[in-house]
Amino acid sequence: MPDVLVPLSGWYARHARDLPWRRPGFPAWGTLVSEVMLQQTQAARVAVEIDAWLARWPDPAALAAAPSADVLRAWGNLGYPRRALRLQDAARAIVERHGGEVPADVDALLALPGVGDYTARAVAVFHHGVRAPVVDTNVRRVVARLVHGVADQGPPKRRDLVDVERLLPDDPGEAAVVSAALMELGALVCTARSPDCDACPLADSCAWLAAGRPDNAPPRRAPQPRFEGSDRQARGRVMAALRASDDALPPASVRALWHDPAQLERAVASLISDGLAVRCDDGLRLP
Ligand code: SF4
Repeated sequence: MPDVLVPLSGWYARHARDLPWRRPGFPAWGTLVSEVMLQQTQAARVAVEIDAWLARWPDPAALAAAPSADVLRAWGNLGYPRRALRLQDAARAIVERHGGEVPADVDALLALPGVGDYTARAVAVFHHGVRAPVVDTNVRRVVARLVHGVADQGPPKRRDLVDVERLLPDDPGEAAVVSAALMELGALVCTARSPDCDACPLADSCAWLAAGRPDNAPPRRAPQPRFEGSDRQARGRVMAALRASDDALPPASVRALWHDPAQLERAVASLISDGLAVRCDDGLRLP
């Protein structure tokens, strides 16, 4: 292991959060499901949901056979519900292509619907013990500060993988621990807004700290549009009503969900186009 990271493993052993997907024996399928949930949802919320999800659909075959409406209802408030349908598509692909077993190979994982570069690497590394860089936002920020002396990482770059690859020990098991530890350090200590350098095990080697924590981050991307009153909020309102109803929502009930008819129509049309809702004789329902 590079000298710079030697203090990290001990810190991780003392400070890592007890999250379900880190427990010994957690299944490959559970790792895939949790990583898809973690793509856009905070770890604390995923930790609350994951056990119930896996109790209901303990393997890819079970999720592949489930009615999509049940899957969307169970996704509940995790947000971005297209992920639920993509996860079900991935489960079906695992059954068809891999006999129901989650593959270990990064390329085979990448070929699954809804599985991007980070998720594929996370499953391969954290469950199957493959030696490969796993780079999420937290890791990118830690490496930007530690190695490059830059306050934040800017847009994702291919270079991130090369940077992290260079930091990994040769042993795959140790490399997986280092990847998890970098992630945890970014989540708990080297945070975006208020890094706690006094508590950081890497402080003696950190280029950004040594440079006096300069304000040298690349320009940020444009801020996200406001959620309140947005099309996204209207979509969420309709999805919540669909999930809460066992039957189709009559047109009058749909109209009552949102104050702006044009915006509501856009929201409904986008849900239909994303496969999250279908029109029927009685109104609107889950697929
Ligand atoms: S010393 Fe500070 S900036 Fe550097 S890695 Fe640690 S927490 Fe991040």
